[in-house]
Amino acid sequence: MDLYAFVKNRFPELPAVRSLAFSRCTTIGVGGSAAVAVSPRTVEEAAELLCVLLRERIPHYFLGAGANVLPPDGEYEGVIVRFSALNALYADGTEVYCGAGVTGGALCRFARARLLSGAECFTGIPMTVGGGIAMNAGVRDGHFSDLVCRVVALDRGRIAVLGKGDCLFGNKRSVFQGGIAVLGASLMLRFSYREEIERNTCYFRMRRKDLPKGRSMGCVFVNPEGESAGELIDRCGLKGARIGGAFVSSAHANFIISDGGSSADVSALIAFVRKQVYAQTGVLLREEIRRIV
Ligand SMILES: Cc1cc2nc3c(=O)[nH]c(=O)nc-3n(C[C@H](O)[C@H](O)[C@H](O)COP(=O)(O)OP(=O)(O)OC[C@H]3O[C@@H](n4cnc5c(N)ncnc54)[C@H](O)[C@@H]3O)c2cc1C
Repeated sequence: MDLYAFVKNRFPELPAVRSLAFSRCTTIGVGGSAAVAVSPRTVEEAAELLCVLLRERIPHYFLGAGANVLPPDGEYEGVIVRFSALNALYADGTEVYCGAGVTGGALCRFARARLLSGAECFTGIPMTVGGGIAMNAGVRDGHFSDLVCRVVALDRGRIAVLGKGDCLFGNKRSVFQGGIAVLGASLMLRFSYREEIERNTCYFRMRRKDLPKGRSMGCVFVNPEGESAGELIDRCGLKGARIGGAFVSSAHANFIISDGGSSADVSALIAFVRKQVYAQTGVLLREEIRRIV
């Protein structure tokens, strides 16, 4: 089936791109392409689209900034749904509503301009709010789960409002990894002083200055309870390990960098690292990254 024609036929006004190269919409920059990518302009349009995709059993994948995903090599015979057009951002006192497509940078700037504190821990994390909530993104000092009050979601084609408890947040986990889309969310911040927000922002920016450069997905593995995945990988002597165009960063062993390889290279290196760490330490690392399949 020509998926682009199918989508355009049903939704003539829906912004859609034929054959979207994954290298252009993911930070790792590998992989083939998707048959079609769409960007619903409203929550209602997103709901109608999802109903059709589910009814027709058409594979689809929600993609944010593509900062934590490994796409496949070759063609993905499905629809990539992006929420970049859902970018509303407004505040009611200390409660900030952000559409799923709002970037982490835009959220931080918006909060700072209104003297609202709480989002500074997201400084420098490449993400959209939708992807950030799905992954419960953050750093040691704060995660989305600390700020979310409500999420406007799309569950099996129906718009629903989920309370924080329904989101089932965990360590790099949430209910949104199971096919429910984030359309937007209300976050609870707090009023603060310009100096404090600036100081926090500088602190979080400084902490990231030594992160590896190059194309990556950030941390590949979740830190096991009480341990650092990067330190475990380092102790196993895997810094610099390479398969094809993918290698383990020598600056941070939980980062795999691609310098021109394929998705298969990255995948093979992930499997190799996991196997080596298990053989040498008995710890089975859980992948943080998500795969488009
Ligand atoms: C250099 C670098 C540094 C990083 N540093 C950090 C860090 O400090 N802390 C941290 O937590 N992460 C970090 N990451 C990982 C990444 O930034 C986060 O996981 C972020 O939340 C991904 O957001 P995204 O919009 O890019 O989501 P994507 O990568 O596009 O998607 C990630 C997952 O979320 C799902 N998803 C995306 N949008 C939606 C939606 N609207 N509804 C439902 N599901 C959705 C996808 O299907 C996928 O399963 C880093 C990544 C890089 C490349």
